Amino acid sequence: MVLVYLVCDQARYTSFDAHYLPGPGTPVSRLSEPKNYRDGPDPADRTVLCAEVPCWKGDTTWMATDEDLGAIVAESLVAEGLPRPQHVATETRRLPQVYPVYVRGYREGLEAVAEWSDSLKHLTVFGRQGLFVPDNLHHVLSMGQAAADALGVDGSFDQQAWSASLDAFTGHVVED
Ligand SMILES: Cc1cc2nc3c(=O)[nH]c(=O)nc-3n(C[C@H](O)[C@H](O)[C@H](O)COP(=O)(O)OP(=O)(O)OC[C@H]3O[C@@H](n4cnc5c(N)ncnc54)[C@H](O)[C@@H]3O)c2cc1C
Repeated sequence: MVLVYLVCDQARYTSFDAHYLPGPGTPVSRLSEPKNYRDGPDPADRTVLCAEVPCWKGDTTWMATDEDLGAIVAESLVAEGLPRPQHVATETRRLPQVYPVYVRGYREGLEAVAEWSDSLKHLTVFGRQGLFVPDNLHHVLSMGQAAADALGVDGSFDQQAWSASLDAFTGHVVED
């Protein structure tokens, strides 16, 4: 995924914290305006938008220049009926692993890998990438806490408690 940050010369883009764009016609899957998530020392006359642009590492989106990505995002927002952002600069971050990608038949592949990793008694798998889940930050923090709780001071690992935690993790509901 490329995170495309549009630095905008305006107090606010919209009053919403996020816009979800799930349709296939736009390259942007979500647009966040962090200023609307928080009360903090943000500049009064400026806001920054974060556009999530899904892609594969090395494809044309991944390789595009920041300037081109900024223009693509701005045009896509307008095409979706959103206001034209008054962006004056673009910053990007390229992240090779962000969300699990659920291709058809992924479950069988995931089960095979989970069975193999379960057989490795020195290995504990958790977190967004490890369990292939699109969880929130508080979910993955509680996974880490549960893993630490299962670890004994003598280095032993309470498999029964961990197994119960893994079952509980399946009940996580993503909040946005
Ligand atoms: C744009 C965006 C906005 C978000 N907003 C929110 C929000 O508002 N609230 C919220 O609760 N959650 C939010 N999330 C989700 C939150 O970021 C994740 O739930 C959380 O970061 C998952 O933590 P994690 O440690 O499991 O995985 P990650 O944070 O993905 O960490 C995994 C780490 O492993 C590294 N890694 C991957 N593969 C390898 C490898 N082969 N070798 C070595 N290192 C590797 C990665 O580089 C990364 O540093 C957001 C996510 C994104 C992308």
